Amino acid sequence: MSDNNLNEEKKETLNFIEQIIIEHNKTGKFEGRVHTRFPPEPNGYLHIGHAKAICVSFGIAQKFGGKTNLRFDDTNPDTEETEFVEGIKRDVRWLGFNWEGEELYASNYFQTLYDYAVQLINQGDAYVDFSSAEVMDTEKKAGKESQYRNRSVAENLSDFEKMRIGEYEEGTCVLRAKIDMNADNWLLRDPLLYRIKKMAHHRTGDKWNIYPMYDWAHGQSDSIEGITHSLCTLEFEPHRALYDWCIQKLGIYAPQQIEFSRLNVNYTITSKRKLKELVEKGHVKGWDDPRMPTITAMRRRGYTPASIRNFIEKAGVSKREQQIDISLLDFCVREDLNKVATRAMCVLDPIKVIITNFPEGKVEMMHVENNQEMEGSGSHDVPFSAEIYIEQDDFMVDPPKKYFRLAPGQMVRLKGAYIIRCDHHVTDAEGKVTEIHCSYIENSRSGEDTSGLKVKGTLHWVSAAHAVPVELRLYERLFSNPEPGSSDNYLDDLNPNSLQITTGYAEPFLKSAKLEDRFQFMRIGYFCLDSDSTESKLVFNRTVSLKEGF
Ligand code: ATP
Ligand code: MG
Repeated sequence: MSDNNLNEEKKETLNFIEQIIIEHNKTGKFEGRVHTRFPPEPNGYLHIGHAKAICVSFGIAQKFGGKTNLRFDDTNPDTEETEFVEGIKRDVRWLGFNWEGEELYASNYFQTLYDYAVQLINQGDAYVDFSSAEVMDTEKKAGKESQYRNRSVAENLSDFEKMRIGEYEEGTCVLRAKIDMNADNWLLRDPLLYRIKKMAHHRTGDKWNIYPMYDWAHGQSDSIEGITHSLCTLEFEPHRALYDWCIQKLGIYAPQQIEFSRLNVNYTITSKRKLKELVEKGHVKGWDDPRMPTITAMRRRGYTPASIRNFIEKAGVSKREQQIDISLLDFCVREDLNKVATRAMCVLDPIKVIITNFPEGKVEMMHVENNQEMEGSGSHDVPFSAEIYIEQDDFMVDPPKKYFRLAPGQMVRLKGAYIIRCDHHVTDAEGKVTEIHCSYIENSRSGEDTSGLKVKGTLHWVSAAHAVPVELRLYERLFSNPEPGSSDNYLDDLNPNSLQITTGYAEPFLKSAKLEDRFQFMRIGYFCLDSDSTESKLVFNRTVSLKEGF
């Protein structure tokens, strides 16, 4: 979409950030450029909250024909791992977004940031402080200036150099910006710019003994990259004054930061620290456990990128704190899967049906439509034979009125195949039905039915001799409290029944399923193959049930 079209688009259909950009474009600010970035810290996997930040930053740039950088904020050597870098890149791509050029790293700018710090010291805008953390904290609260605040530029330059070359031990001193110890905004009370960490960094190795604070690296990184609109969540609002101060003192290019509210979803945790704890303490099987709200888990569970993007779109972009109902996500997933999932049959609680008038040993191929919602999706073959399985639930010896499934003397259609009539059933000593005997109506084959019979019920089924046993993993919410941790420890709110493992019999066509395939197991739910599957054992995840509350 070109800028002109966007300007003509009705204002109320645009979110507030898009409206700001249109105003910028009118006044020529940033010369009509739109260049955003997504700046994750590589200390964990991305979650549904990050999906919002991704959709907002990449989505807005896309809309205005702009660009988006992927920049890893790797300022903290403690917690960052290459595994997370690769995971994040994969997740962003999977969500459907491409960044500009190679991925970037805040660590690319360590030298520039160091030079900037030297510039501030030379200007008398930064100083090395040897006070203890406790003293600095007390002084901050009291609005009292540090005894090291007014030392000479030469002393500060020399001490900063000693910090850099490793002459001072960790915790000895820090570099602070000289702003205002009485500022209402606490972040302006001489914030830390550098601390000593004698630790190797995943990209710069042993080169540095000092590492920039996030707040020092962040704004300047945006400036260096020529970002126009630094889109971020509301908690960064008070940081903006600090970023602006740095950029103004350095006299460098100034991006504009715009904050929007975080995505919060009920029954869900969107804190990396807590998600990490769930993984490390074994409450889930890993970052990609399909119950997790991470992108990697949602992918494994069978959610589609389109359904996640659509969910974010529906949740909206504003400054209002929001809590979104998780059922909106389920809705979006169902809506998309309904369009794309291949219909297949799987029986969970089998009971055997013998078609007494169908020749023993004969196999007839039925052609079942892959997806009635998608034109040209084709069909696949389902073998039909004299012994099939249906769900136990689909048969009743003594049914109530308006029971349209199978019952003595009653007829149903087998999906994609014939109409059958129940003639007889076999029970064991306890009276439990063990087998149902039916006859099929010869001229009632689906698609070529000339029987003239009208039946109300259609059942899913599989041929007993051909069906493949499968493991089905059914997921419920990971937490049973809508606000995990609201009462006490969020770990106490874990839902003990969040995973149920059951088995089923699936039609043989599913042996060729691939990880990216999406299925609707008729009347049961949407499923996808799980990566735990082997040649001899197929495992399917239930992505979502067919209807809410199932
Ligand atoms: P966490 O609190 O889970 O550690 P974070 O914000 O520290 O998350 P980052 O890797 O720094 O993790 O996040 C990258 C970007 O994603 C940031 O700009 C942040 O604002 C955004 N983000 C994180 N959580 C959410 C959320 N729940 N909703 C929207 N954006 C989010
Ligand atoms: Mg962060």
